[in-house]
Amino acid sequence: MTVVVLLGGPGSGKGTQAEILAERLGIPHVATGDLFRAAVRDASPIGLEARRYMERGQLVPDDITIQMLLDRLEAPDAADGVLLDGFPRNRAQAGALATALAERSSQVDRAINIEVPTDELVRRLSGRWVCRDAGHVYNESTNPPQVEGRCDIDGSPLVQRADDRPETIRARLTQQLASLNDVVDYYDGAGLLRVVDGVQAIESVADDVLAAVTSEAPGGATGAD
Ligand code: AMP
Repeated sequence: MTVVVLLGGPGSGKGTQAEILAERLGIPHVATGDLFRAAVRDASPIGLEARRYMERGQLVPDDITIQMLLDRLEAPDAADGVLLDGFPRNRAQAGALATALAERSSQVDRAINIEVPTDELVRRLSGRWVCRDAGHVYNESTNPPQVEGRCDIDGSPLVQRADDRPETIRARLTQQLASLNDVVDYYDGAGLLRVVDGVQAIESVADDVLAAVTSEAPGGATGAD
């Protein structure tokens, strides 16, 4: 079983890289945010509970999150491994994951941090505009619309969400990056961390992420187990 944890701040390109890497490794991309959104759509008990936190931009409590993730790991398609995205978000979750994997005689094989400086994250996130009618997403620098201020797909005006404005973004980022750093330190301490430069073209980041996953374990161990 191959277990890879992909880490990175909001705006780091983590979701995009997770899609690419999961396909290259042939293991499912498991994003706890996606699992929660699906639970909300299904109005399941977990979804009803999680929604209260998600709506406020808060983390869902660890007991619910960890149980949901562990259930997902039981699914047949996860037998050979998973690529985790958005989990763990703190040390408690990282510890619970380690314990659960140990019970399956497994472990996290590698944690990859897609590193992007905070100023660049603010720049990327605050450049985000969405169309009023359908929420199609644009970015001033990476994915601008053909006509400024108009959606390419449905022509509706582009608006900026209150939580995508630079000052709001910086405040939210500071909070999120603090817990991300805890998780980064946790995996660094365990000798499992690799850092990839996230300020490159998508394909270059993807190549570096794959190289980081398949490279030898730190300290010269072969990783054969
Ligand atoms: P994301 O798509 O990763 O930004 O997640 C969307 C929302 O789902 C977050 O704002 C949290 O409310 C919740 N969530 C996702 N992953 C976790 C996690 N590992 N721990 C707690 N809450 C989470």
